Amino acid sequence: MPIHRLLPLVVNQIAAGEVVERPASVVKELIENAIDAAATCIDVAVDNGGRDLIRVTDNGVGIPLDELALAIAPHATSKIDTTDDLKSIATLGFRGEALASIASVSRMSLVSRPRDAQEAGRIEAQGDHVGSPRPAPGPPGTCVVVRNLFFNTPARRRFLRTEPTEAAQITRIVQSLALGHPRISFTLHVNGNQTIEATACHTANQRVFDILGPHLQEHLLEVLADDRGVSIRGVVGKPDIARGTARHQQVFLNGRVISDRSINHAIKEAYRGLIDPTRYPTIVLFLEMDPGQVDVNVHPAKAQVRFRNQGIVHGAVLSAVRQCLRKADLTPAFDLQPIGASSTSTLPMPAFRSGAAGQSASARRASTAEFVEYFRRLDPTQKGFVYSEVKQALAADAPQVLAAQDRDSASDSAVACREVEVLPMIRPVTDVLQVHSSYIVTQDEQGLLIIDQHALHERVMFERLKQAVGKGNLESQRLLMPATIEVDPAQIELLEQLRPLLERIGIEAEAIGPSAIAVHAFSSFLFERRVEPGEFITELFDKATNDTLNDDPEAALHETLDMMACKAAIKAGDRLSPEELADLLRCRETVERASSCPHGRPTTLRLTIADLDKQFGRR
Ligand code: ADP
Ligand code: MG
Repeated sequence: MPIHRLLPLVVNQIAAGEVVERPASVVKELIENAIDAAATCIDVAVDNGGRDLIRVTDNGVGIPLDELALAIAPHATSKIDTTDDLKSIATLGFRGEALASIASVSRMSLVSRPRDAQEAGRIEAQGDHVGSPRPAPGPPGTCVVVRNLFFNTPARRRFLRTEPTEAAQITRIVQSLALGHPRISFTLHVNGNQTIEATACHTANQRVFDILGPHLQEHLLEVLADDRGVSIRGVVGKPDIARGTARHQQVFLNGRVISDRSINHAIKEAYRGLIDPTRYPTIVLFLEMDPGQVDVNVHPAKAQVRFRNQGIVHGAVLSAVRQCLRKADLTPAFDLQPIGASSTSTLPMPAFRSGAAGQSASARRASTAEFVEYFRRLDPTQKGFVYSEVKQALAADAPQVLAAQDRDSASDSAVACREVEVLPMIRPVTDVLQVHSSYIVTQDEQGLLIIDQHALHERVMFERLKQAVGKGNLESQRLLMPATIEVDPAQIELLEQLRPLLERIGIEAEAIGPSAIAVHAFSSFLFERRVEPGEFITELFDKATNDTLNDDPEAALHETLDMMACKAAIKAGDRLSPEELADLLRCRETVERASSCPHGRPTTLRLTIADLDKQFGRR
């Protein structure tokens, strides 16, 4: 075929391929136009997942009759003029492509009336046929109706998913744009039923609660920060409402929904150790910065941007989110329901509130009966014991915890012991109780705390290691006799690769033969915690062999510290001395992120006095 110019319809449809991927992209472009037109009310209606009908109505500035044809012409825009304007774009649209692209793959009608015009104008287009604009009745503002999307591009139409899936995508887009523009009222009608009504509000966070659901409010922390020209506002979800999808993770830059790898990385980093790495936090961030510092002209749907200084943005997000989480009390609370549920014969720990969507309230709540039963069945003579001495040990240097305990309980150790004799099955928690050699029960100003001793100690060990490794290689201890470890011959060559990592954690080892390694020096930390060199190194090598160790050296170090912390930490089933218990509780007060272990599981659950009062009918 000789070289020839493509017909305008083909050009537009190619552009549409990038801009209009599915009905939700049409909704996005039309809403963005309404936002750019300074609308304060935007209504969206869709039928059959947007295939049959998409209608977006706004009360914005409108388009004059004589500009209607241009509005749907390709590369025609009122938002930029020269290439200089591209350097600092303050509107959501600027490419002048959306209406032309949409018109090329649908039957579109546009009715618009500028605020000062007497009447509206109307223009229709379908495929490559564009009608002429005519006066028509209509209120101030713009209404774009898109019917039979992809009627002339059957391949695209075939790729559309089911009606509910497309409708869900549309709902998400409307929710996102509504989140980013709290001062605008949004409504969405799906097949004639109103599914979203977000009235204009003054604060971005109010809109977040409206859209994500008011029930999340108590799980959200407000963030507000300003760092080297990047202002950050929004909400940061506590780890207990993390989800399996990134859907509740939304970032806006100057009102634009963006997806940016570096910002996502900063968020992940800020939550590292607080949530399971496979889950995503609930977080909505509104970033504002000088439009000149960001290039939005890098993606056809404008979903990605390029920062002039990515490092600053990454750092600002990381520190804002991290600070916010650091300041918060992240101990999850129990959620109980009234007595009356059937008693169970097994002894599961009562579930704590997860907030996960899709679970019925009864499924995720522990019944009081279960909870009481759990404590009733604890056998104090065998695995659990009260340490009143812990109180003294703690009192020495942890005034925060004990001050509250002292105030609240008039009982001393003698009282505790007497009560234990009278009622051996349920023990009063005046001090600290270790149950089943696994959990520690104590109290704080708000109520009852149940601590997973391994999880908490793991966090303590991890933070200690992280601090130490920040200062240089970990201290190492020379072994009197080298420890010989048998490894898989295939693993021997890993030794060279792992050497820098081993050095950082204080391990010196060399290959002695085709399948043996001699360890000459071992990490003092692990040594003191009686971790076997053979066991540790074999596991590390296995991790490296199975490719579960990160390629990035810093991340691999992090994972190794994690492993060290886990190995060094006291285990479930370890009986703790009063000093050890006191020590652990003291650490809980000082260590960072004490509410969760390095893998993101909770270390501590709280049952508040308010909850207890409620459950026991004390109003
Ligand atoms: P862009 O938004 O990139 O400029 P579009 O194809 O989306 O390109 O729109 C073309 C032009 O039509 C816009 O620049 C704007 O002037 C006008 N326009 C589109 N939608 C609206 C609307 N809802 N209200 C007012 N003007 C609009
Ligand atoms: Mg546009």
